[in-house]
Amino acid sequence: MSEAENRPTNFIRQIIDADLASGKHNSVQTRFPPEPNGYLHIGHAKSICLNFVLAQDYNGLCNLRFDDTNPEKEDIDYVNSIQADVKWLGFDWSGDIRYSSDYFEKLHGFAVELIEKGLAYVCFLNGEETREYRGTLKQPGKNSPYRDTSVEENLNHFTKMKNGEYKEGECSLRAKIDMSSSFMCMRDPIIYRIKFVDHHQTGDKWCIYPMYDFTHCLSDAIEGITHSLCTLEFQDNRRLYDWVINNVSIESEPHQYEFSRLNLEYTILSKRNLLTLVEDNLVNGWDDPRMPTISAFRRRGYTPGSIREFTKRIGVTKMDNIVEMGVLEACIREDLNDNAPRAMAVLDPIKLVIENYPGSDGEQLTVKNHPSDESQGTRIVPFSRELYIEAEDFREEANKKYKRLVIGKAVRLRGAYVVTATRCDKDADGNVTTVYCNYDAETLGKNPTDGTKPKGVIHWVSANESLDAEIRLYDRLFTVANPAAESDFHSVINPDSLVVINNAKVEPSLATAKPEFAYQFERQGYFCLDNRIDSTEAKNGKLVFNRTVGLRDTWAKISAK
Ligand code: ATP
Ligand code: MG
Repeated sequence: MSEAENRPTNFIRQIIDADLASGKHNSVQTRFPPEPNGYLHIGHAKSICLNFVLAQDYNGLCNLRFDDTNPEKEDIDYVNSIQADVKWLGFDWSGDIRYSSDYFEKLHGFAVELIEKGLAYVCFLNGEETREYRGTLKQPGKNSPYRDTSVEENLNHFTKMKNGEYKEGECSLRAKIDMSSSFMCMRDPIIYRIKFVDHHQTGDKWCIYPMYDFTHCLSDAIEGITHSLCTLEFQDNRRLYDWVINNVSIESEPHQYEFSRLNLEYTILSKRNLLTLVEDNLVNGWDDPRMPTISAFRRRGYTPGSIREFTKRIGVTKMDNIVEMGVLEACIREDLNDNAPRAMAVLDPIKLVIENYPGSDGEQLTVKNHPSDESQGTRIVPFSRELYIEAEDFREEANKKYKRLVIGKAVRLRGAYVVTATRCDKDADGNVTTVYCNYDAETLGKNPTDGTKPKGVIHWVSANESLDAEIRLYDRLFTVANPAAESDFHSVINPDSLVVINNAKVEPSLATAKPEFAYQFERQGYFCLDNRIDSTEAKNGKLVFNRTVGLRDTWAKISAK
């Protein structure tokens, strides 16, 4: 079944169906409207998939628009990373990228229109006074003493604001709505403020910038957005948006519908908080594979399809909840189980010497890349007298439950022969360093002729022909399921969120591994080459792999603790 056929309905689709049926709209126009003040996270992926997939399914269009009204928090690096993330997720926006700053001239015109209609005024209360006058949820606000300034004077002040004749913070333009409204956002909200800051798109052209609430709704209207979809925290602001749209001369009336944000266990989804993790060096940048950003999931080997599938499974509702990490991991695990080629890597190597193996040249074995998908073909894996196996795959003695290598018992080497262990060497601390065994030369792809069948299969690499690798194992970034609820999330950071293994050995075919493209390392999990160009050079020629996800769900266990 295709992604579209398989898609469940939701309340937004029902609204769109009704709007199309009644003729309220003839087509669907959506948008994804990020503020370029950080990298996108998995919560944004929910919004991106919602907006772009709706447009696709209804033969409509979806814009990508940067709501760029806060120049000092924004950066062109964020603008670029957001575009890359949307494309990587598999979506293409309609026409050119849009910026709210493209509309600054028009927005200024709308502000002048409000002043002319007596619906906006320049207020000289300072920040503290403005807060005081605003009142509280329990107490109505008070009218600003500047509320009844004449239209002429207000126009004059606003021109002076625009021309840089007032200092930052000296005054602002406010909508004249209702200081006693039970919606705080309706108590004469500021719609323009002075900021002597250059803007990444408009340079030094402006020293007044429109506020987000004023800009967002008008940008939607300018673009003819039919269904403005956003998260529930903007529910109250809808009153203000409707007020603005109704009071300026613009035809289009986008209607806003709110859905619940994605919250994900053991992480935080807020650009502001993620920025502090980056700034405080608690992670190595926005795309540190422990981050919940799209670029981090990508670096870790998640596929765009797995993230789209995740957003489909969680659905779209108005109910607040926290999604288990296991839901996201199941999506990538299912994808990679079907699609990732297999390879062998030994994370904690000990030597295995096959004493009866003839010669020292070894041989080249042909091994399947996928156990059931023939189309993935085969690869050559060198086999030799000396191999590496995992330390945990050998015991001198063990009970029947242990289906690996034990002295006197046989085990199958994946894709190769059956071997029987004979003895081992240990270091001064009693750790096994080398295991000796004999092999049965007749068992390549066949069971032993004596009718026995080895109980277990273990993975291996050739000692001389394997490559050195550093392997990074990631765990949850926080020790509690809902770090956002902590007074200081810094205190619940998981100190073991990254474990680096630096002496792993991987099969030589992985020399051509592509960054971000995951392999299943047999019996270990899914791993991909890190996408930093410096990773191989900086590590003295070692390949650096990130663990995408383990083979099994370990989150369920954590939650049950
Ligand atoms: P943050 O709090 O992380 O900064 P934001 O809402 O300020 O997020 P925007 O850049 O304004 O970030 O978001 C762009 C769009 O993505 C908005 O429509 C917003 O509603 C949506 N969005 C943001 N976070 C989530 C989330 N966790 N789940 C679903 N949608 C989200
Ligand atoms: Mg925001």
